[in-house]
Amino acid sequence: MFLRLFTFLVFQALGATLGWLIWPHDVKLAGVLFGVVLGSLMWVVYDLTRGLRMMAWLREGDMSEIPLKIGIWGEVSDRVRRMMRARTQLTRESEARLQDFLAALQASPNGVLLLDAQGRIEWFNQTAAHHFGLDAQRDLQQHLVNLVRDPAFAAYVAGSDYTHDVAIQGRASSASRPMRLSVQLHPYGDRRSLLLSRDITMLEQVEAMRRDFVANVSHEIRTPLTVLSGFVETLQSLPLDEKERATYLELMAQQAFRMQSLVNDLLMLSRLEGSPLPSMNEWTLVSVLFQQIDQEANALSASLDKSGTAKHHIRFDLSLDMELSGLASELHSAMSNLVNNAVRYTPAGGEVRVSWQLLEDGRAQFTVADTGPGIAAEHLPRLTERFYRVDRSRSRDSGGTGLGLAIVKHVAQRHGAELVIESVVGRGSHFSILFPASRLRSV
Ligand code: ADP
Repeated sequence: MFLRLFTFLVFQALGATLGWLIWPHDVKLAGVLFGVVLGSLMWVVYDLTRGLRMMAWLREGDMSEIPLKIGIWGEVSDRVRRMMRARTQLTRESEARLQDFLAALQASPNGVLLLDAQGRIEWFNQTAAHHFGLDAQRDLQQHLVNLVRDPAFAAYVAGSDYTHDVAIQGRASSASRPMRLSVQLHPYGDRRSLLLSRDITMLEQVEAMRRDFVANVSHEIRTPLTVLSGFVETLQSLPLDEKERATYLELMAQQAFRMQSLVNDLLMLSRLEGSPLPSMNEWTLVSVLFQQIDQEANALSASLDKSGTAKHHIRFDLSLDMELSGLASELHSAMSNLVNNAVRYTPAGGEVRVSWQLLEDGRAQFTVADTGPGIAAEHLPRLTERFYRVDRSRSRDSGGTGLGLAIVKHVAQRHGAELVIESVVGRGSHFSILFPASRLRSV
């Protein structure tokens, strides 16, 4: 301010001096006055030029250098520059925060979509783009209901109850690869909404499997239970002789045994699913496992024959004894399930061959081969599903639960092994478990 006053006075003094020097002798005072006025005008022009430079600088917006360094204009430009720098810094920080926030929303495993008051898309993340088949270039500012054509979604948006979600078909859904989404709108701010989408395909599949499983178990238990209670009723209501009573009791024992086997297999499956992986430090001799299943297979074969003698030719071929690491009870269960199946499905006089071989790649192959009816190719991929049976009545008649191969597959997986099934109708079947080298040890 002082400088401003000083320059103003300097301009006036210069004007007055000039007027004094130039004006004739008798009107010197008028000359001085004129000089002062001229000096003031010159100062105004000078100040205006500085002001205009300042305006031009502000218009350009280049804050790297200030146009004036001294005087009031110099101070104004310095303050403006400082203010602008602080603003730019603030904007940068807000921008960075916004980017962080958007990156977090991008990282969300759920689809996130922001809608304006008219239901137009303002922003969405990659997951939402995948769920609804959206394109950032094409679909921003479009009405979401025009792009998501599922009638359930249209009805949901048209209604006003957003306290629950709605399940709709994903955009990329096809018959072979279905995609189901759970979608929920969350209103916020001034009639805006946040839409969250979640892929529930797996969840729905698991839920369907659970429902099927419960239905299957109930059905499997209900059948023998109905037969059993029928027999109980007969025993209670009819006067039967000793022989008849014995026959009924035998039939009842069979049904009870069937239920027991089912419950045992169910418990085994649930143990396999819920327990930690088998240890690598517990070793079992293959020959010991073979001895156990040899006895069981012959006993089973004999039990299927009225005369009580084994009716199958069962051969065990252990070319090289080894030790196998894992849970002995599980390994035994898997092996005996395969051998029991071979015995149960192979007609009398047939052959069952059980072998153990070391392969060139270091793995070992446990194989059960039979000369039974064989299995048509279309059934092979589904054999390890729970309760899947090729021939229902045959399975039940021979005491099958429909869970044997599911158990074998689980045990194999838990031991890092692979179950391989080969079968030709009319020629017999080969069921093999390929154990990894890491679980084998020579003796
Ligand atoms: P199940 O208790 O019914 O035998 P599994 O899971 O052990 O159940 O086997 C599933 C189905 O696979 C059986 O119902 C049967 O139809 C078929 N199967 C299993 N092993 C053999 C085999 N060795 N020969 C022919 N069919 C077999």
